[in-house]
Amino acid sequence: MKVAVFSTKSFDKSSFEQQNLSYCHDLVFFEERLTKHNSYLVNGFAAICVFVNDQLDQEVLRLISENGVRLIALRCAGFNNVDLLSANELGLTVVRVPEYSPDAVAEHTIALIMALNRRVCRAHSRVREGNFSLEGLLGFELHGKAVGIIGTGRIGKRVARILNGFGCILLASDPYSDIECESFGVKYITLEELFTRSDVITLHCPLMPETYHLINDEVIKLMKSGVMLINTSRGALIDTKAVIEALKSRKIGYLGLDVYEEEGDVFFEDLSNQIIQDDVLARLLTFPNVIITGHQAFFTQKALDTIAEITLSNITDFEKGRHCPNTISLDLVRR
Ligand code: NAD
Repeated sequence: MKVAVFSTKSFDKSSFEQQNLSYCHDLVFFEERLTKHNSYLVNGFAAICVFVNDQLDQEVLRLISENGVRLIALRCAGFNNVDLLSANELGLTVVRVPEYSPDAVAEHTIALIMALNRRVCRAHSRVREGNFSLEGLLGFELHGKAVGIIGTGRIGKRVARILNGFGCILLASDPYSDIECESFGVKYITLEELFTRSDVITLHCPLMPETYHLINDEVIKLMKSGVMLINTSRGALIDTKAVIEALKSRKIGYLGLDVYEEEGDVFFEDLSNQIIQDDVLARLLTFPNVIITGHQAFFTQKALDTIAEITLSNITDFEKGRHCPNTISLDLVRR
């Protein structure tokens, strides 16, 4: 099948080309992120392959549908960037990669917690400059600390398993409790209780209208003073301006982000020669107790190979008219 692959980086191209040896689709790679301004690029393609920051709102979906697209293959798990109701109305099939390497994201979450707690980035830059002072590097032991996990699906469950090894008290909030998590001591409580009791809060639920700005002014008030907040899920789960105020007042003591609500214009690009125009992001970067990574939690070789393999298999299912288990149904959205 002829597929337009958007937001392509060198690593996408090599993993897709390698895996495509077994599938033989006609892949055409575009470096551009799909937006309404370049949607004409899909002309002649029945399928497109997109990533987390490609724009698939109502207008873009209408434009690409008019240009003959029938399949949208997301090469990611989250689907918050697709207007699924409009896609459904236009008869567009949307497939995704629901699970590729949840361990990759879970392990990066732990990397952020540990680096923030033990001030690894500050220590590294200091020591490189010959400064071996310990002032400002004081950490805490995770053992015995209460960690609140919001969303114990594939990734949240793995985070819980790792933190169980650290000897943490594991608290969780999820509309569906997980038997395996409960078996090793995860305690399901209300979101309000989780905010009140946790020393570390880590977000692993999807971004949906109900979870937009889940972390906001009101709930920050419930949190312990000096709490650590980690988000490796989706940027808009957090009201960033509210979090900045809480960092300034020291209510939030540590912030680790792999995602940011306005990341679409910034992440995945080398902007080191440019002036950052986003004042909120620029302010975040000034705090000594904030670590931001540019949506790299998924980024391992195993994950890239699995993403390419499953995406190509999804496309083949569609091409051959077979049932594809990774099709996003409206039921999933309403769940
Ligand atoms: P999943 O679907 O397996 O798990 C999500 C869990 O969140 C489910 O158990 C669900 O019941 C729960 N949930 C839904 N609404 C909730 C709410 N209001 N409060 C609490 N829990 C709620 O998804 P996953 O594979 O674990 O991925 C989680 C998120 O991680 C994805 O939505 C995606 O946005 C993000 N992600 C980020 C990266 C990255 O590189 N940073 C990579 C992959 C996925």
